[in-house]
Amino acid sequence: MKGKAIIFSAPSGAGKTTIVHSLLDRLPFLRFSISATTRSKRPNEVDGKDYYFLDLEDFKEKCNAGELLEWEEVYSETFYGTLKSEVERIWSQGNHVVFDVDVIGGKKLKHILGDQSLSIFIKVKDVSVLRERLKFRNTEDDATLDMRVKKAAKEMKEEVHFDQVIVNDNLDLAISEVENMVKSFVSRS
Ligand code: ADP
Ligand code: 5GP
Repeated sequence: MKGKAIIFSAPSGAGKTTIVHSLLDRLPFLRFSISATTRSKRPNEVDGKDYYFLDLEDFKEKCNAGELLEWEEVYSETFYGTLKSEVERIWSQGNHVVFDVDVIGGKKLKHILGDQSLSIFIKVKDVSVLRERLKFRNTEDDATLDMRVKKAAKEMKEEVHFDQVIVNDNLDLAISEVENMVKSFVSRS
C-alpha cells in the first residue's frame, strides 16, 4: 500500500485538534505526525505524544541537518516543524499520516505531496467564535490570545488553497463529514 497524507489546517481555535483526535480514534489506519516545536508544553500535553518539545538550539540543529519536511515560525520566536522521520515511520508501518499544521505549513505540505495528500481547512463562521473558543480552552494569556486571533483573521482568507473546507459549528456533524471525506480519499487507488 502506498502511504497517503491528510493535512489539517485552521485558524487557531477552530477545533482542528479536537477533530483530528476524534478522527484518529475512529480510523485505525491513520497515525498522527508528531511535530517538533519550541513552544512551552501545556499542562495536559505529553512530550513525544502531542509534540516533541525542543529548545531553540535543538530545533535549529534539526533544521540545518535537513530533518524537517517543512517548518515555520508560526508565532513570533515560536517554531514548529514536520519531521521527515515521522512520515517515513508511519508509511513504512503501512498507515496513512495525519498532519495538524498552520495554514502556511498546510499549503507547503500540499505542494510537496501533491495527489498523495488531501488538504482540509477547518473554519468557523467568524473570528468572534475563535476568540470565545480560545478563551474557553483556557490555554492563552491576553497577549497570546490577541496574537492568535489577529493571525486567525488573516488565515480565514486562505481556504481557497485547500482541497476541502469544513465548517466546525456542530462538532459531531463536522467530525462525521471529515470521516467520510477521509475514508473516500484513502480508498481511492
Ligand atoms: P485548534 O486546534 O483549532 O486550535 P481546539 O481543537 O483546541 O482548536 O478547539 C478550541 C476549543 O474549542 C476547545 O476547547 C474545544 O473543546 C472547543 N471546540 C471545538 N469544536 C467546537 C464546537 N464545534 N463547538 C464548541 N466548541 C468547540
Ligand atoms: P498550538 O500552539 O496551538 O499547538 O499550534 C499552533 C499552530 O501551529 C497550529 O495551527 C498548529 O497546527 C501549527 N503547527 C503544529 N505543528 C506544526 C508543524 O509541524 N508545522 C507547521 N507549519 N505548523 C504546525
